[in-house]
Amino acid sequence: GATIGILGGGQLGRMLSVAASRLGFKTHIFEPGANPPAGDVAHMVTTAPYEDEAALAAFAASVDVITYEFENIPTAALDVLEQHRPIRPGREALRVSQDRLTEKAFLQDLGLQTAPFADIPDQVALDAALAEIGAPAILKTRRFGYDGKGQARIMTAEDAAPALASLAGAPAILEGFVNFTHEASVIAARSPSGEVACFDPGENVHRDGILHTTTVPARLSQSQRMDAVLMAAKILNALDYVGVMGVELFVTPKGLVVNEIAPRVHNSGHWTQNGCAVDQFEQHIRAVVSWPLGDGQRHSDVVMENLIGDDVIRIPELARERDCALHLYGKADAKPGRKMGHINRVIRAQK
Ligand code: ATP
Ligand code: MG
Ligand code: MG
Repeated sequence: GATIGILGGGQLGRMLSVAASRLGFKTHIFEPGANPPAGDVAHMVTTAPYEDEAALAAFAASVDVITYEFENIPTAALDVLEQHRPIRPGREALRVSQDRLTEKAFLQDLGLQTAPFADIPDQVALDAALAEIGAPAILKTRRFGYDGKGQARIMTAEDAAPALASLAGAPAILEGFVNFTHEASVIAARSPSGEVACFDPGENVHRDGILHTTTVPARLSQSQRMDAVLMAAKILNALDYVGVMGVELFVTPKGLVVNEIAPRVHNSGHWTQNGCAVDQFEQHIRAVVSWPLGDGQRHSDVVMENLIGDDVIRIPELARERDCALHLYGKADAKPGRKMGHINRVIRAQK
C-alpha cells in the first residue's frame, strides 16, 4: 500500500490517519510539536520544525503523496516538499486561504458575496475604512487566526485604537459585521478528475469564538441548499482543488455570504463520521489518492458537539447515552479552550 504524508499532527491529522489506515494505507505525520495526537495512530512520525529542510526532504521522500491538516505551512517548506512529491490540495488553495485579504478578493472575483472588507495597514487606513464600512465591524489579523483568535470587535469609533493595538502590529483587515440569522457550512470534495461531491450543509453555533455544535440538516430553504452547494463547487473548481474543503457561510435574508474557506477537513464536518457511509476523512483520503469519491448523502440526522477543556468530565455520562458516538483525541491536559474530542448524537429515523 501507498504511504500518505500528513503535515500536522492534531486531531484532524489523527482522524485522517485512522481513515487512511482503514483503506489500507500507511501514514507519516510531520509535526513540530512533541506528542502529537496523531502520533498514537500514525505509522510514522517526524518531529522537526518546518525550517529543517533535511527533515522535510526525508519526510517527502518516504511518502507517495503529501496532504495537510492545517493551512499555515510556511511557503519555504512547501517549496522543499514540492520538489519531491505532489501536495494535495495544491499550492493555490494554500496561497488563497492563508491570508484573509487574498481569500476575500478571490471570493469576490468569483462573484460570491462576502462581508464588506478593507486592508488595514495602519490607524489612518482603519479610520478611513470605519467611515466607509461603518460600525459594528471586526478587525482580524490577515494570517494565522483560528477559533476567533486575532480578532477585535469595534462597536463604536472609540474602540478603533485599542482594537488595532490588541493585534500588536500584525497586518489586518476590517470586516463589516454581517447580520446573519444563523451560520452554516458546506463540506465539499473534489477529485483530480474534477468530480465534486458535497455533504449536506450543517448549521453551526459558536461559543466564545469556538465551534460548539453542528446540526444536520441546517435550517435552509431548498434554494439556499442548492446555492450553498453550487457556491462550494465554484470555489473548488476555480482552485482546481483536490481534497476536502470547509466553506463557512452566513445565512442572511439577502442570501448566503461566504465567511471563510478552509483547505482541509473541517470541524463542522465531523458529523459525517456517523451520518454518512463515507465520512469527510475517508473522502479526503480518497481524493488525495485519486480514488472515486463517496456519496455525500446522509443516512441519519446528527448533532455534533465539541468537547472543550473541562467538558471531559462529562465523558462517563455521555458514554452511557444511547446513540451518542464518542470521538476522543487522546490529549492529556484539558486546558481551557482546548478541543479534547467531540460527540455525534445520531437522530434515528422514525419508523
Ligand atoms: P475558525 O476557527 O472557524 O477558523 P476564525 O478564527 O478563522 O475561526 P472566523 O470564522 O473569521 O474566525 O470568525 C469566527 C466567528 O465570528 C464566525 O463564525 C462568526 O460567528 C463571527 N464572525 C466573524 N466574522 C464576522 C462578520 N464579518 N460578521 C459577523 N460575524 C462574524
Ligand atoms: Mg478560520
Ligand atoms: Mg471560521
